Amino acid sequence: MRPRHYLSIIVLLFLTAGSFSIVSAADLPDIHILATGGTIAGTAENASELGHYQAGNLSVATLISSVPEMSTYARVTGEQICNLNSDEITPMIWLRLANRVNELLKSPDVDGVVITHGTDTLEETAYFLNLAVKSDKPVVITGAMRPATAISADGPLNLLNAVILAGSHDAAGKGVLILLNGEINGARDTTKTNTEMVETFRSPDFGLFGYMDNEVPKFYRESLKLHTSGTDFDVSSLKSLPKVDIVLLYPGADQTAIDAFVANSTEGLVVASMGNGGYQAEVRSALLDVVNKGIPVVISSRTGTGVCTPEDPEFIPADTLTPQKARVLLMLALTRTNNQDEIAEMFREY
Ligand code: ASP
Repeated sequence: MRPRHYLSIIVLLFLTAGSFSIVSAADLPDIHILATGGTIAGTAENASELGHYQAGNLSVATLISSVPEMSTYARVTGEQICNLNSDEITPMIWLRLANRVNELLKSPDVDGVVITHGTDTLEETAYFLNLAVKSDKPVVITGAMRPATAISADGPLNLLNAVILAGSHDAAGKGVLILLNGEINGARDTTKTNTEMVETFRSPDFGLFGYMDNEVPKFYRESLKLHTSGTDFDVSSLKSLPKVDIVLLYPGADQTAIDAFVANSTEGLVVASMGNGGYQAEVRSALLDVVNKGIPVVISSRTGTGVCTPEDPEFIPADTLTPQKARVLLMLALTRTNNQDEIAEMFREY
């Protein structure tokens, strides 16, 4: 071997030793996983079955042991919050999650939290936590579109990426992040857009925050709306959340659903209006009666994008929030106040 080659090998050994010392175990972040179920913990009869499977079937211990690569990037621990299809997630579980995340992130021993969740209602849990978590440390929520038993299951890579992201300084202070399919999205503006495809989470109005470029998070933007430590919400002593319901409008809709929700003790209504705050005369007068009873009414749009600006000042505009996100904010707003103007201000800020 020529001397130049010896030199290359020595340089290579030096660089390799250097890179090992950079990621020594002592330097790794401590990431805690809170598992709630979903397809990421789902199993089917066979590997080609992508649609019919049992969601929420694998434990957090199994999820962690199936992605040993995580130990290169973080010291990972985990706990099971519940193990459900996310269609069964309730506001009580949002409260439990928020309080547990807040407790964990207060500890100097935890650098970030990852939540595994079914994708159907992941966006609501993410936005709730975005408003109720009181820490700037990273909180990343992930899931999967294919069960763990599937050919090309997306869960393991999503979990690995979520752990890397939760351990990254760049993810701090950006609110709760949604990570699937190598795409980093913000909790406020992101929604599930496809029933089956892995690229389902989209922020149609504003776009994604960034990408996982192999194992490196790369950010290009963040939300200007207040979140986490910047909000007024404190859920630590709440036993439940106010009951808020959504009224979907369509040609021929009448006041039946509105009356039923009021009779069933709703504390706030979100209307998924047609276009930019469009509602029938009959619906309008039923909604004004609701407001006169002291029950706030928020007008959002069923279009999925754009600012919603209803003409009637008695109603609260949802800004760009989808009906399901507006419901989350109204539930939290009602824990602070019943005042129409104060709630409207929260819809402008958050
Ligand atoms: N139904 C499942 C759930 O939301 C879907 C998924 O996780 O992708 O739990």
